Amino acid sequence: MKKHNRSIESYFESLGTGAGEVGLSKEDITKDFLHKLFYHLGRVPALTTSNDIYTAMALTIRDRALRKFVRSIEKFTQQDARGIAYFSAEYLPGPHLGNNLLNLEIVDETKAALTELGLDLDELLDEEEEPGLGNGGLGRLASCFMDSLATLGIPSIAYGIRYEFGIFKQEIREGWQMETTDKWLHNGNPWEVMRPEISYVVKFGGRTEHSTNGQNRYQVDWLPESEIKGTAYDTPILGYQSNGIIMRLWKAEAVESFDFSVYNMGDYYRAVEKKLRSENITKVLYPNDENLSGKELRLKQQYFFVSCSLQDMINLHTTQGRELKNFHEKFAIQLNDTHPSIAVAELMRLFVDEHEMEWDEAWDITRNTFAYTNHTLLPEALEKWAVSLLGRILPRHLEIIYEINSRFLEELRDKGFSGDQIARMSLIDENGEPSVRMAHLATVGSFKVNGVSELHSRLLKSQVLNDFAGLWPQKFTNVTNGVTHRRFLAMSNPGLANLISEKIGEGWLTDLTSFKELEKLAENEDFQKRWREVKLQNKQALTQFIKEQTGVTVDPEMLFDVQVKRIHEYKRQHLMVLHIIDLYLRIKDGKTENIAASTFIFAGKAAPGYFLAKLIIRLITAVAELVNEDEEVNRFIKVVFLPNFNVKQAQRIYPAADLSEQISMAGKEASGTGNMKFALNGALTIGTLDGANVEIREEVGEENFFLFGQTTEEIQQTRNEGYRPYQYYEENPKLKKVLDFLSSEELTKGDTELFKPLYHNLLQQDPYQLLKDFDSYCSKKEEVFKLWNDKKEWTKKSILNVARMGKFSSDRSIRDYCEKIWNVKPVKLKE
Ligand SMILES: *Cc1c(COP(=O)(O)O)cnc(C)c1O
Repeated sequence: MKKHNRSIESYFESLGTGAGEVGLSKEDITKDFLHKLFYHLGRVPALTTSNDIYTAMALTIRDRALRKFVRSIEKFTQQDARGIAYFSAEYLPGPHLGNNLLNLEIVDETKAALTELGLDLDELLDEEEEPGLGNGGLGRLASCFMDSLATLGIPSIAYGIRYEFGIFKQEIREGWQMETTDKWLHNGNPWEVMRPEISYVVKFGGRTEHSTNGQNRYQVDWLPESEIKGTAYDTPILGYQSNGIIMRLWKAEAVESFDFSVYNMGDYYRAVEKKLRSENITKVLYPNDENLSGKELRLKQQYFFVSCSLQDMINLHTTQGRELKNFHEKFAIQLNDTHPSIAVAELMRLFVDEHEMEWDEAWDITRNTFAYTNHTLLPEALEKWAVSLLGRILPRHLEIIYEINSRFLEELRDKGFSGDQIARMSLIDENGEPSVRMAHLATVGSFKVNGVSELHSRLLKSQVLNDFAGLWPQKFTNVTNGVTHRRFLAMSNPGLANLISEKIGEGWLTDLTSFKELEKLAENEDFQKRWREVKLQNKQALTQFIKEQTGVTVDPEMLFDVQVKRIHEYKRQHLMVLHIIDLYLRIKDGKTENIAASTFIFAGKAAPGYFLAKLIIRLITAVAELVNEDEEVNRFIKVVFLPNFNVKQAQRIYPAADLSEQISMAGKEASGTGNMKFALNGALTIGTLDGANVEIREEVGEENFFLFGQTTEEIQQTRNEGYRPYQYYEENPKLKKVLDFLSSEELTKGDTELFKPLYHNLLQQDPYQLLKDFDSYCSKKEEVFKLWNDKKEWTKKSILNVARMGKFSSDRSIRDYCEKIWNVKPVKLKE
């Protein structure tokens, strides 16, 4: 096709609107749905499967999304304002269909269209397989940000990896986690558009050649060992009442399909193998919520997607006739953690080696392009790559990193930094096997560095990046995380959303701070009653789901006490279990006074190689089995482990929770976003002063939050004084009884060694100080039980929690990024 200067709008005019291909009325949807079913899928009604029906509807809605999407592309390329490229190795978008219907405001029309055809929208929504392209919080945050970027109309592209197998599916067999592969593409993916014409070559391995060319320019050539092609797959991400943005994910392929004429039989098979090896790069997501060093394929994944994305951006920039020296004026690139931080070296390589830019100018542009979001203080999670590995896979990048480092350290010497400080700040860690500190590379190569909650940003400056904060105080800032209240309230909790809209209108969909108006209804008895009815309905729905998934019958009138998130020692799922064991022992002792009947609900995946996390799951299922089958006990408490926690399941759970467990050891959870999703849906929080809990408590009021446990400072002090967990075991009879129960015949069904590793871990090291916080947690639970019996007070607090959640919309986070980091103005590009 020739290039045209006609606007998209004029093409739409020729297509016709309203009654045309992509109208939004019930009749248009029906017509197009049938069209897709017959002519796209070639199905006759008698033979359609539920997946055919889902796919036909998804394609129908995708066309409507694409109509908006082409408009945004046009805007992105033509406008002069700075656009945002979000680099993330993970996304967890959740199911698309329901969200797109909400954003297009055609939920009712679609439902009606389907009803007329004798079909049910809810069944269709259930059919969708979600893209599990992330591990948990970090990937979900990226997707919440996409929703807000789109809704706020900020020209942006979300770059990432199209993993063929996403996060594993979790099953529970005999109480243990079992992993199976997530074949999310097995029925096809109606939401994506493959772009064979958008592809780039990415090099690996080999060596470099240094020379001085004709004009005396120092030139480096990279002679790679292998090359791989990355092809773009685009998914439109709509915003609410707006055009939406692109999520562009890269798939790896062999560079050239092989040529029959030049290969003999033996080489033919070798060529096929080579093709398969190339495709390996984007085969599977690493199922670890921390970083893994040493995994060569992981480094290749990171470099692969970053290189494709940067080449794509340079291409977008230059084909618009713009000069590379203005690159940073046209783009800001946000690095979601250090996973994409090799981009700093890659952009330098592209500028200096491939576009013949001088080093100083290239460095200037690079440093004004990137901004880096840190997500963790856990020392074991700070990403490092052995110099030997990085040099073998990316020889030219290692040279560039050395060059950046030598100039940086020179600067530090000039400024009078001490030898110790210089060694600490170097991009190369010389302790033990030399390795590249990716957080340092990201920090040096960025114009802004942010943490994800006030507390985390403060600790980041005082601990992990302390020296850098001293050198560049202006570079450091905070942007507290947020969640999209459209997916996690409007879409997943329609009962509550409708009740709220009835009282304060629908303005909250684009302005969550308007929830403040609900405060005046907090004590209104009629409103409280309806508030409780909605919660009960959500709990009934979850009760049904629990029954289907686990076979366990629970009572929706009970307090639903919920901890759902990745399983990790620092998140302290086992602290909640210790309390449940205490309740069990009390009930067996006949001391049932002051216990509010509770259902304890857990869900979450453990990294497949993380033994203690898997043992914690085994502990939960053992306690569940014991409690649920005991007639004496199960009138008071039940325990449920829901397998395979993902976004779809999360959307069922948050709306049904009464109590949200946010009980990580203070200083370990950077922000948390589950805490926000629970509170937004009316759960009260029991939590520590960690991550965004601190700010949630500030916002909702300390009287509406169950606080317990040590602060960051107290934890440090406990450690400094020489924490001896055994002492707590010895001196606290209740705790001793609970811990000893871990090796009881009763719990372990005779396999008394089963939980020993956990028991020893707690008694000997207890790195997350559960034993120290145990009493504080238990007594706060007593308060929870007491309040639960006062329905009016509980409901009032629940309403006030929701009313004061305005700050935690990801719309606010994105506005903060615009103002504090990207220096762009959110301008809503309405139709
Ligand atoms: C929100 C969310 C998370 C993050 O939960 P935290 O409680 O913040 O750890 C993880 N996984 C899914 C599917 C989520 O929706």
